[in-house]
Amino acid sequence: MTTTTRSAKALIDQESKYGAHNYHPLDVVLTRGEGVWVWDVEGKKYMDFLAAYSAVNQGHNHPRIVQALTEQAKVLALTSRAFRNDKFPPLLQKLNEITGFDKALLMNTGAEAVETAIKAARKWGYECKGVPAGKAEIITFDGNFHGRTTTIVGFSTDETTTGGFGPFTPGFVTVPYGDLEGTAKAITPHTCAILVEPIQGEGGVVLPPAGFIKGLRTLCDQHNIKLILDEIQSGLGRTGKLFAFEHEGIRPDAVTIGKALSGGLYPVSAFLANDEFMSVFTPGTHGSTYGGNPLACAVADAALDVLVEEQLVEKSSSLGEYLLGRVKNIPSPHIAEIRGSGLWIGIELNDKAGGARRFCERLQEEGLLCKETHVNTIRLAPPLVITKSELDWALDRLQKVLCEA
Ligand code: PLP
Repeated sequence: MTTTTRSAKALIDQESKYGAHNYHPLDVVLTRGEGVWVWDVEGKKYMDFLAAYSAVNQGHNHPRIVQALTEQAKVLALTSRAFRNDKFPPLLQKLNEITGFDKALLMNTGAEAVETAIKAARKWGYECKGVPAGKAEIITFDGNFHGRTTTIVGFSTDETTTGGFGPFTPGFVTVPYGDLEGTAKAITPHTCAILVEPIQGEGGVVLPPAGFIKGLRTLCDQHNIKLILDEIQSGLGRTGKLFAFEHEGIRPDAVTIGKALSGGLYPVSAFLANDEFMSVFTPGTHGSTYGGNPLACAVADAALDVLVEEQLVEKSSSLGEYLLGRVKNIPSPHIAEIRGSGLWIGIELNDKAGGARRFCERLQEEGLLCKETHVNTIRLAPPLVITKSELDWALDRLQKVLCEA
């Protein structure tokens, strides 16, 4: 029996028997995707309203990105950085032209880009700021999500993420998200960086108070500290700007990107910074066998072209406003709060609503795939290629389910 002819139940049992139980997915087994739509093994069609946590901003199987992937795979996929390849330099220049950062260091997953940022910050702290050896501090925030490595989970404030995985890497100080005064108090002569999500995605699309990111910029300028924004989920159009930091009219010293840089096809992430900050890396100090491989570069190059040429950032801004307006008008007794920016919404349910999971399961029955984050939040994050009529289709189902008892 081939996989495609197996029932969802058989596949779920197989996964459960042979796989680690480190996720709690909805019981929908997908086999095909196109644009905003996906199909399960039994042929039922759904709209993807999560977009792989924003990795599928360009939509599933975008023909242009698939073409870039398949053509490059036939020619050259991996050289390692022991040798040079012809797809890496043009991608670096494109990243510079689109984002305005001087230089990029390519990795694979988001967590690796964040690890790169941490290493850059510490090395800069010692070599440029004069922080005594072994004393560098990085300020992070309550409710953060920056990935799953042991160093990164060490400064998470979510017990499920951290429990049982210590001891953790020292050198991180955690401050309440949005607390500018608390941040100022946490700064010491050893602080080399502030690492922050401009909007907390995994936290439930949590927006800080207006002026917070700008305030962090000012603090960093006053104290010679690097401001590093993790835009792995918020970046590349999700919030209606290329980067979420643009909403506050500032520029950070560095940014991490991933997810949508891959066009939803092949993991690519990057740490972007100016020349001075990036110059802390010298041969042998950092790297990855797959970082900057030609297949990844061809995919990322096409993913960026799609983002720009299909004006997905502008679409996220205009359709996002429409989405937020309609969600705010849903007359549901279960909704406690609605937060959003661009095509990215967090619907916070009342404690008495019975948890977000049951609503996501009902939405699944209606053909709309959303996923709860934490207990009470439904996150909406459709692919940015969505049309207004597709958005209306989803909103009708969302309204129906949220207004049920
Ligand atoms: N940083 C942020 C802000 C994220 O949202 C995520 C993933 O959700 C990561 C880092 C980690 O990315 P990855 O899962 O690719 O390691």
